[in-house]
This record gives sequence, structure tokens and C-alpha cells, in this order.
Amino acid sequence: MIFFSKFYTTLILPLFNKQTPLEEGELRSAIEKMSQKAGFTLENVFVMDGSKRSTKANAFFSGFGKNKRIVLFDTLIRDLETDEIVAVLAHEIGHFRLKHIVRSTVLGVLQTGIMLFLLGWFVNEPALSEALGASKPVFHIGLIGFGILYSPVSSLSGLGMTIFSRRNEYQADAFAAKYARPEALQTALKKISANALSNPTPHPWYVFFNYSHPPLLQRLEALDKKVRR
Ligand SMILES: [Zn+2]
Repeated sequence: MIFFSKFYTTLILPLFNKQTPLEEGELRSAIEKMSQKAGFTLENVFVMDGSKRSTKANAFFSGFGKNKRIVLFDTLIRDLETDEIVAVLAHEIGHFRLKHIVRSTVLGVLQTGIMLFLLGWFVNEPALSEALGASKPVFHIGLIGFGILYSPVSSLSGLGMTIFSRRNEYQADAFAAKYARPEALQTALKKISANALSNPTPHPWYVFFNYSHPPLLQRLEALDKKVRR
């Protein structure tokens, strides 16, 4: 998992998309100015041909150490104004500076570790195979039994992860509001969610169980409080 998060943009992503360094100009210098203010040493900003497959506009941060880079979808550059792109990037830098990336990697490793531990424990358990009608413990029956028993555990840990992730989103938004214009983040989020055809009014319970990001309206309202008057 650590290998993948370190090398995702250098080894995996190039298999599917082309990335080119962001050229010098107004956008690049605006991004550099903001990242300096936000205490982030920025070496790599790349533009990816996201428009190849979808109209979704996005930006993400990947890797760590020397491999860390910011990747902007070309759709983001096409649809958003400079100050909006800067605000989106400030949000991504927020995830890095507030240690969300490290923490979610650690949590992901723990989650998988616990899963594999339980799997090792259950898969050879004779009672499990017997319960499913096999006379002696066999691996593939144990695997099915484990799958059934683990699904509520995985729902619970997944729920924990979505709650954690939504909290991180609010924090990254607040971080972005400090180093970029909150109004620009608001209009950027509106454009991004319109592009992604996301549901403007999802049911609160559905959001609670499934959403890794808070719905647009709640993010806009939280940002309203940050608008400097
Ligand atoms: Zn985010």
C-alpha cells in the first residue's frame, strides 16, 4: 500500500493517462505564490489529460517525499478560473499539511492488517466449514464463511473511514479558506460538482453511510463562515 501511494503517479497513472508539467505563466505563478504562503515546497505540478475519459474536473495530491506531486485535470483548467484552481489546490495542500494523507495511509494499512489477521484466524476454523456443510475444514469454504462474517465488520470500519474522511474535507476547506479566497473555493466546488453530475440534495442517512466528501451544500455553508467581510 505504501509502495502504491508512493509510486502511483510515476508508475501506475502513466499507464492510463499522460501528464505534462504545467507551463510557466499566470496560473503557475499564482499557484507558486499560494503554496509558498501555505508553507508547502512545490516542485511538481502536472496537468493530466482527464478529458480523455470524462468531463469530471479534479485535482489530487499523490506520493510522498521526492515523489510527491500535484496533478490537475485538464478539465479543471478548462472550466475553472485561476483563483478557483488556486483555491482547489490550497485544499489539496491542506490535506497534506494537516497530515490527512499520512493518517489515512496508516488507517488503511491497519484496516487491511486487521482483516488479514481475522482471515488467518477464521479460515482454518473447523466450526466455520462445518456450519457451511463441509465435513472437514477446507480453505475455500473457510473463505466464503469469512466473507459472510466479515461483511458487517467491514461496513463498520468503512463507516469509520467515511466519517474520518468527511471531517478531513471540512478541515482542508478551512485550510484553503486561509490561503486562498473562500469565495473562489465555493464557485470552484459548484463547478466541479456540476461537472461530476453529483446529487445536490442527497438523503442525510445515505450521506452518513456512504459519502467520503460532505455534500456540496454543507461545504458551501461551512465556507460561508470563512468569507472575510
Ligand atoms: Zn479533499
